[in-house]
Amino acid sequence: MNCPFCNTPDARVIDSRPIENGSGIRRRRECLACKKRFTSYERAERQTRLKVIKKDGSRVPFDPASVLRGIQAACGKRPVPEVVKQRIADQVDESVHRDFEQEVPSREIGRRVALGLRDVDQVAYVRFASVYHDFQSVSEFQEELTHLVDKPPAPGHPSLFEQPDR
Ligand SMILES: [Zn+2]
Repeated sequence: MNCPFCNTPDARVIDSRPIENGSGIRRRRECLACKKRFTSYERAERQTRLKVIKKDGSRVPFDPASVLRGIQAACGKRPVPEVVKQRIADQVDESVHRDFEQEVPSREIGRRVALGLRDVDQVAYVRFASVYHDFQSVSEFQEELTHLVDKPPAPGHPSLFEQPDR
């Protein structure tokens, strides 16, 4: 297993735990060279049969590590604990394996990740949704954003995304 940051082979395993449904093992590793930490997944053969249908129609094996990378990218420096990001990735992993037999659209994976992020960090959610979630239109995206606002803006104080009256 090469380090995803500096590509050095061999990384120390600092934690191993089974994925909740017993389909594999998640290992937390630390690179011996750059000391950065990352997560690897090992799973049973049957689990790797799930294919992701990409937007261009091609199929690739489902990869929980890439789900986690997308979550990490969306969170950036947001104060989201690593275990929370992993929990979202695990939940998406488990739910798509539960709900899909052989193939799952990439959009569906993105939708589930977005829902997980929405409960955790709204900035990360919007970031993820704007990059990965295939909104059909700007208005659909803005509509989604308005769901994040707890209270409607006071009269005379339109939200950032509303068009001023003309
Ligand atoms: Zn490294």
